[in-house]
Amino acid sequence: MRVLEAAAPLAYQESYDNAGLQCGDPQLEVRGVLIALDCTPAVVDEAVRRGCNVVVAHHPLIFKPLKRLTGANEVEQTLLKAIKNDVALYAAHTNLDNVAHGVNRKLADKLGLENGRILDTKPGLLAKLITYVPATHTAAVLAALYAAGAGQVGQYSECSFRSEGTGTFTPGAGTSPFQGTPGQPETTREDRVEVLLPLHLQRSALAALRAAHPYEEVAYEIIKLENSHQEVGSGFVGELPEALSPAEFRQRLRTALGVPVVKYTDFERPIKKVALCGGAGSFLIGNARAAGADAYVTGDLKYHEYFGAEGQLMLCDVGHFESEQFTGEIFQDLLAANFGSNFAVLIAQTLTNPVRYDF
Ligand SMILES: [Zn+2]
Repeated sequence: MRVLEAAAPLAYQESYDNAGLQCGDPQLEVRGVLIALDCTPAVVDEAVRRGCNVVVAHHPLIFKPLKRLTGANEVEQTLLKAIKNDVALYAAHTNLDNVAHGVNRKLADKLGLENGRILDTKPGLLAKLITYVPATHTAAVLAALYAAGAGQVGQYSECSFRSEGTGTFTPGAGTSPFQGTPGQPETTREDRVEVLLPLHLQRSALAALRAAHPYEEVAYEIIKLENSHQEVGSGFVGELPEALSPAEFRQRLRTALGVPVVKYTDFERPIKKVALCGGAGSFLIGNARAAGADAYVTGDLKYHEYFGAEGQLMLCDVGHFESEQFTGEIFQDLLAANFGSNFAVLIAQTLTNPVRYDF
């Protein structure tokens, strides 16, 4: 869970979501992991058959709260089966959608997009941490903050700003100050140190700050920022290496995604810039338009959602499952790289897509 949540922090899931460990003992010894898009009774059966006691899925099995567990529907049947067989269920859902190397980046790679970025970056996730350090300890404090996850700006790490100034304090009775004497006003040279900090790392960053800072009382400020987190958010936008005709682009979709059908809107111009969102992505049509995309690829578009973007971009509905079908590769790469020698990491053979196509 630590490895999965370092890559897709739970704090990045949407408010309606329910990602994380869904069922099972967090101390369970992992014997094998089966990866699936959805967790169904057949997937749990396959896990047991193939010697796996953890299922890692994209969609959370428990999404709406349960009031009883009687096996009345497939969700409850899956859960009962997992409990009876001592199989743990874990889901990384919108938190995996929202990271830069998640579901949408994977889909963009499969379509051959270049120069990509997140389509709708998320505000409210970042803070600025300011602290005041005697210059002798600035390097150590910064090193501790970086190790705790502060100071990252896009692909740049160890980012900080510092300015020299004068700090004043009077240690109270009973203190044992790093510098100065109780009851005596003290003036000292200090660095004001500023770093960017993801809000969900606040607790560990403050613990690291206190451990590395020489003062008994550490002065700091955490200021929540309006800035969007450039590496976290919904959808993705990138460019095809060469422009394709709308028909060629739809052929690319069918081949790359193995889909028999693409539902689309009429569009005449060449397709070069492509926005996309795995799963149900109608909420990003406006962002795709604003980004100047020639096509927007997603799933689960409803009839009336096809209206409104006429002549501006081609809407392409490739199916919810189909747009997310490569998500298992993200889990597999991550788990195999970290635990490949400890236990097997297998992709489920069970097809969980309930949608069929007739022609
Ligand atoms: Zn989905």
